[in-house]
Amino acid sequence: MIETRPELENLSDYVPGKSIEEICEQYGLKNAVKLASNENPLGPSKKACEAYTNIVNTLHLYPRGNAPHLISALANKFHVNSDQIVIGNGSDEIIDMVGKAYFRPGDEIIGIRPTFSVYKATALLFGAKFISVEETENRPNLDAYIQAITPKTRAIFICNPNNPTGYYYTESEILEFLSKVPQNILVFIDEAYSEFATAKDYPKLLSQLEKFPNLMLNRTFSKIYGLAGVRVGYAFSSSEVIKALWKVKPPFDVNLAAQAAAEAALSDDDHIQKTLDMNNAGNAQLTEAFTNLGYKVLPTQANFICVHIGEKCSEFVKFLEQNGMIIRYLKSFGMPEWVRITIGQPKENQLLIDLATKWTNA
Ligand SMILES: *Cc1c(COP(=O)(O)O)cnc(C)c1O
Repeated sequence: MIETRPELENLSDYVPGKSIEEICEQYGLKNAVKLASNENPLGPSKKACEAYTNIVNTLHLYPRGNAPHLISALANKFHVNSDQIVIGNGSDEIIDMVGKAYFRPGDEIIGIRPTFSVYKATALLFGAKFISVEETENRPNLDAYIQAITPKTRAIFICNPNNPTGYYYTESEILEFLSKVPQNILVFIDEAYSEFATAKDYPKLLSQLEKFPNLMLNRTFSKIYGLAGVRVGYAFSSSEVIKALWKVKPPFDVNLAAQAAAEAALSDDDHIQKTLDMNNAGNAQLTEAFTNLGYKVLPTQANFICVHIGEKCSEFVKFLEQNGMIIRYLKSFGMPEWVRITIGQPKENQLLIDLATKWTNA
């Protein structure tokens, strides 16, 4: 037997949302609707599909590891320097790169509970400790993170808006927080859902990168850009942090098709706007319906809603699956009475509402 690194003993497999294929096989269904992984219900942008198809005859060539076209498209769109951007095979890999570049055994990494599980898994993988600030139904003040800082703290993860609750911190809250965090601690703000936020006080932090060289902003092509399948994430930070990440980045991780599709998706404003409009309408539709059915719905700034179903939550999720509707049960997030529902197309939302009504009144 080959001995693994001891850190692996603390790790469990990532629990993803169930796939359509899986549910169809399990319940003998022809089709199912998936509102479980916060994917774009409109699909990928047509421009991205075209770019993806266009590279098919060059599949034998290595991609350019430094992705110059994609990097410069990102720099232009977001008005930052090219040396302030890194890309990865999904933003999951960027989180892994942060671990490779910065985490040491004994370090402390601060995050919230519940949140996206990858932060903790990455901390543990590199022998660091994950310190959780507890989220209650009333979102904790950012001072709770400040109080958790010790001389061993290496990084702080803030998911804004948070997955799975949808809660967000405002610009003034984040700025005050940043001014209190020592600059030898990386502040990783995961903005995977930032494009969906409609609140006026949702932070715009790109202009803060100069002032806070320890600030990192993480984004993805998996959500609003509809490219979860090709795996591209990107992040902004000071040139110093970005340089460290490029050093640990596998050279060809963002493949040729992914680079082409991402670059094209970035400029498809029409697709982005359609997605946003649909998300806002769907948020209202689902929030109203679940509230009327008597469930507590948390306010959201993302493309999902978090709903309290109660003690029979797992039965509810199973009932939906048997009827070809997949949502995310939040037990693995430590919220066994809650579900997270991706806001879908109007008819998908309606199908879910009809099923939820039937189950509730049964
Ligand atoms: C979906 C999601 C991501 C995106 O991950 P990718 O690896 O880019 O697909 C990142 N952070 C959070 C909180 C997410 O929910």
